[in-house]
Amino acid sequence: MGQGIELTDQQWTMALAQVRHVSRNARLKCTHFNYVHQTYLSPHRLHHMFTEATPRCPRCGHDDATFLHMTWECPEIHSTWRHIMQHVSDIIDVSLTLDPLLCLLGVTKQNKRSKYYMKFVDLALTLFKCMIAMAWKATRPPDVQAWLRVVLRWTTAEVNALDQDRQAQDGDGG
Ligand SMILES: [Zn+2]
Repeated sequence: MGQGIELTDQQWTMALAQVRHVSRNARLKCTHFNYVHQTYLSPHRLHHMFTEATPRCPRCGHDDATFLHMTWECPEIHSTWRHIMQHVSDIIDVSLTLDPLLCLLGVTKQNKRSKYYMKFVDLALTLFKCMIAMAWKATRPPDVQAWLRVVLRWTTAEVNALDQDRQAQDGDGG
């Protein structure tokens, strides 16, 4: 990822493949794509483009807020990621590592308990990435309770969509 996270070729392939797999929803695919390619303009980059723009982090005041700082290293965001990962680990009953490759890029070396669980993990983490992007200039990190509500809503929607697919397939068969 340029500043800070180094990916092997295989990890890049996995990160890019995640763009297709993360969800059927275009907005979530787009969010994942934007993280892989660091599309969101960090204060660091904005400052290099327009010297009058502040390079400071709006949350913690760090004086050189890179993309990695904004999405991962900022103490405010990092402690929120810790809560998010604890919730996700509790839900799937697997202890997930607080790893930027998994959290930001959907790349994991961890033993996948099942495809079904990892699909939920990808969805839940991408929804939090979405919330970070939506509150890019906010002085506070996204709210964990709000994230939990969003995850519940999306999980329900994805399950309903799967049911509809299954019904449609049954219809074709019969
Ligand atoms: Zn910060």
